Amino acid sequence: MSGGVAPAVKGWCPGALRPMESGDGLVARVRPWIGAFTLTQASALADIAERLGNGHLELTRRANLQIRGLRQEALPELHAALNALGLLDRDVATEAARNIMVAPLAGLDAGAVDIRPLARELTAILAADRQLAALPAKFGWLVDGGGIASIAGERADIALCARGDRVALRLDTRWVGIGTPDQAMAAALSAARAFLALGACNRMRKLSDAHWRAVRAAMVPALSPIDDIELGRTRPLGLLPAATGLAAPFGEIDVAQLRGVVALAAGAGASELRLSPWRILYIGARGDRRLLDAASDLGLIVDPADPLLRVDACPGAPSCNAATVDSRAAARWLAAHGATGTVHVSGCAKGCARSAPADLVLVGEAGRYHVVRRGTTHDIPEGTIQSNELRAVLHG
Ligand code: SF4
Repeated sequence: MSGGVAPAVKGWCPGALRPMESGDGLVARVRPWIGAFTLTQASALADIAERLGNGHLELTRRANLQIRGLRQEALPELHAALNALGLLDRDVATEAARNIMVAPLAGLDAGAVDIRPLARELTAILAADRQLAALPAKFGWLVDGGGIASIAGERADIALCARGDRVALRLDTRWVGIGTPDQAMAAALSAARAFLALGACNRMRKLSDAHWRAVRAAMVPALSPIDDIELGRTRPLGLLPAATGLAAPFGEIDVAQLRGVVALAAGAGASELRLSPWRILYIGARGDRRLLDAASDLGLIVDPADPLLRVDACPGAPSCNAATVDSRAAARWLAAHGATGTVHVSGCAKGCARSAPADLVLVGEAGRYHVVRRGTTHDIPEGTIQSNELRAVLHG
C-alpha cells in the first residue's frame, strides 16, 4: 500500500426537473409525498424506468427514488408521466426545497407519534412559500415521531421530532427547544428564513458562530429548553408488527424487483411503499414467511445479519462518469470475504453513497483505491491500493 492524498470532489445532486448526467445517461430523482409511494405510483415508476430509462432505480439516503439511464429527449415524456402521477413539482426551486425525510412507519407503528399531518403541513408550506423555495438544494428537513423506525438520528439541517404531544426542534446537531407542534413549526420556519437571509452558506452545519447566534436570536416563538432526546438507532428489517421491511443491496433496485415488491405489497393488503434513508422499503402491512422468501428470491435483503447491510457503495464505473473503479463489485467482494464493521466503497471522493464515517472507506481515483480508516471519503487516506488488492484492507 502506498501513501496518498485526499482526492478531488466532483458532482452534485439530481432532481426530476433537473436530472444529473451520469455514465449510463441522466439520473432523475423522484421525491415521494410524505415519504410514501402508492402502489399505483410505484408500479408506474417501474414502467417509466423500463420505458424511458435503463431499468435501474435507486433508493437514496434522503429517502427518494432515482431513475437511471434516461436520455435527454425522453425528459418531456418523463415529466408528463410524473405529473400524471402527482409526483412532479411545479419548478426546480420547489422540487429542491421539498427535501423532507419522513419517518417511514408513521401511522403504522403504534409506539410512534403519527407525524404525517406535521409533515404534510411542512410540505405544503415549502411548496407554496416562494421565499423558502430559495433554500439551497441540499438544505434538508426531517420529521420524526420516535418508535422502532425513528429517523431522529439522521442528519438534517432542521429536524422536527415529535415525542408525545410535543415537538422538539434541532438545527443540524443542536437541539434548540421543544413546544407544541404549532410552536415548533413556527420556530423552525423562522430559523430557515433567518438562515436564508444570512446568505452565508448552504448548510446549517457550516454557519459561523456569529451566524449561528443570529439564527437562534431570530427564532420565534421561544421554545422550552431541551438538552437532548433519545435518537432511534435501529433499522428494522423483515417482519414487523404492522409492516415488512425489505432492503435493496446498495439501494439498487431494478424494474423486475420493484414490480415484485408491489405485487407482494398488494398481496399483503398494503396500499403504499414507504421509503427510508436506510434503503429499506417498507410494505405497509405485516407479511409472513412466504413474503420474506419471495422477497429474498427477488434479490432483496430480509435478514438483519446480512453483511451487505454494513456495506455502502455508489454505482461507480461504468454507471457514473466520475468513477474509474467498479465500486459495487469491490463492495460485494469485501462483504463476501468477511470485512468487519461498516464499509464504504466510493467511486470518487464525492461519497454519494454515505456521508457518515465508516470503519473502512475505499475512495476510487484513477483505477485505484485510497484507503481511509474510521472516516469519510473526505479524510486523508492512510494509503492507496490497486483495485485487485482488496485483500490487503480486510484486517486493518
Ligand atoms: S461517489 Fe460514486 S456515484 Fe457519486 S459522483 Fe463519485 S463515482 Fe459517481
